[in-house]
Amino acid sequence: MEIASAVNELREKILAWKKHGRKIGFVPTMGYLHEGHLSLVRESKKRSEVTVVSIFVNPKQFGPSEDYRVYPRDLERDRALLEKEGVDLVFYPPVDVMYPEGYKTYVEVEDLQDRLCGKSRPGHFRGVCTVVLKLFNLVQPDEAYFGWKDAQQVIILQKMVEDLNVPVKIVPLPLVRDHDGLALSSRNTYLSPEERRAALVLKKSLDLAEKLILEGEKEAGRIREEMIELISAEPLARLDYVEIVKLNNLEPLERIEGEVLIALAVFIGRTRLIDNLRITSGGIEK
Ligand code: AMP
Repeated sequence: MEIASAVNELREKILAWKKHGRKIGFVPTMGYLHEGHLSLVRESKKRSEVTVVSIFVNPKQFGPSEDYRVYPRDLERDRALLEKEGVDLVFYPPVDVMYPEGYKTYVEVEDLQDRLCGKSRPGHFRGVCTVVLKLFNLVQPDEAYFGWKDAQQVIILQKMVEDLNVPVKIVPLPLVRDHDGLALSSRNTYLSPEERRAALVLKKSLDLAEKLILEGEKEAGRIREEMIELISAEPLARLDYVEIVKLNNLEPLERIEGEVLIALAVFIGRTRLIDNLRITSGGIEK
């Protein structure tokens, strides 16, 4: 497995693969890898001939008072995990390679970027779309793999790729949870043991939503209220949002009909965690 940090190193590799007509699969990450990331890598290994993983903590998707500086980083650990999965190339650029002095270009997906997490993290999805489009232009993958853990990100990137005619197929993959149900996240390392226990309230509120839906509850407002009540009962939790929206355009729903996304963000202490449940023709997924 090779690690490229410079653009020309990466391009050389990619060009050689392209020349031989290899199908390139790509998994963009911010590192500090866990089983959620590795599930994407494994799917890429299955579906593509070559797998490229990027590790880049993108400063442009963090707000000024967010955790960019303290975000966990451990290249050696990540390298060992990716080597074991048989990854072909890791792109690990320094910040000034991605954003040299004088950088000026940004990608925005109007409306979708301002909903859900976009309300409490202004500029977040502008940063995400900008870095992902740059990475797509560098890696030129046939397919890119993203987790449903970040459902809004999936919806926004699918729209970006459609609107800008980017020749990459976005492949969304299931959310991976810890044994007790907590959605895996690099940010879980911030949690104290007590907070780790309190963090289960996110998944519990989705379990409650699922139960209500299976019992026939159709009113989004009622489901939302019950979820909020459950979360409010956890002393270490502070609700950011619970929203019930149409999956493809993130518009609020009054009734549970068609494809639905129930998404929430909750602060556990100082750590902001997200989770979601999706209802599609395939049933309820969480
Ligand atoms: P991140 O490193 O947090 O930017 O995540 C990189 C990719 O891994 C994104 O596509 C995430 O949606 C995905 N991912 C993160 N956590 C999980 C998880 N628990 N299950 C599935 N995918 C995940």
